[in-house]
Amino acid sequence: MTASDCLFCKIIAGEIPSQKVLEGDHFYAFHDIDPKAPVHVLVIPKRHTPSVSDTEDPQVFADALAGVRAVAKHLNLEHYRVVVNNGTGAGQTVFHLHFHLIAGRALHWPPG
Ligand code: 5GP
Ligand code: ZN
Repeated sequence: MTASDCLFCKIIAGEIPSQKVLEGDHFYAFHDIDPKAPVHVLVIPKRHTPSVSDTEDPQVFADALAGVRAVAKHLNLEHYRVVVNNGTGAGQTVFHLHFHLIAGRALHWPPG
């Protein structure tokens, strides 16, 4: 399923350019346009779903996290953080589910 007015669906379709990192049957990974770390990749399911809260089929999470794992392996990352913002109050600005894969600098805990 695609949403015609969704930015990330347009990126998957190639209608909006992106710096692709890796692609699988069910995920697409590309560099964040405004990186918060030396490595900041967005991993998204190809199937449109707005957020964690809206995703009823757990296979979507499995596919996306398998994508995160594949990207980490591809980039030779041993240490990295995976972040998902759910809802505007948590900082979500694009409503197509996405996993931020962040690495390449010290990652403090707890996050802000
Ligand atoms: P959120 O704030 O929803 O968790 O994350 C959305 C992310 O998408 C942000 O980190 C933002 O920089 C990134 N982003 C927004 N528009 C674009 C775009 O057109 N291309 C790319 N590559 N990243 C984008
Ligand atoms: Zn979408």
